[in-house]
Amino acid sequence: MSILEIVKEPDPILRKKSNDVKNVDESLQRLMDNMLETMYRAPGIGLAAPQVGILKRVIVIDLAKEDEPKKPLYIINPKILWKSEDLISREEGCLSIPGHFAEVARPSKCKVQYLDYNGKTQIINADDLLSTCIQHEVDHCDGILFIDYLSKLKKDMILKKLIKTKKEKQIL
Ligand code: ZN
Repeated sequence: MSILEIVKEPDPILRKKSNDVKNVDESLQRLMDNMLETMYRAPGIGLAAPQVGILKRVIVIDLAKEDEPKKPLYIINPKILWKSEDLISREEGCLSIPGHFAEVARPSKCKVQYLDYNGKTQIINADDLLSTCIQHEVDHCDGILFIDYLSKLKKDMILKKLIKTKKEKQIL
């Protein structure tokens, strides 16, 4: 397995729409293994393929706590079939937006259809943190980031800081 480079905002690739996967084959499974490893290393609880520069609708999630056995969830071609009307507000972060966190309100529950690691169709009824996490990651597949839900003022402030960090890294 190998660790992939995580794309940081601002980067045009994070704003592109990803494509559905046609075949769940060994090379896709390898990508998911590497994404999971990259996410664990970061560390994070969710990662979408566009965040490693690959425009495929592929997501990995693991909400297990540090002292619990790992519980990876592989989600390919997610389709949100239903979202609850009631919203829940939660502090979100993103591996592509390091160091910044903000409250985002999203539907508290959702029902999602997807293909699993073996290409089998699955349906999940997600609530709580999993619901938030899936919606955040599906957004990545559509080129949407959590900062898009914030006020323009707050979003611009975060973007400015991200650009500054990128520039500093380039100089070093
Ligand atoms: Zn993210």
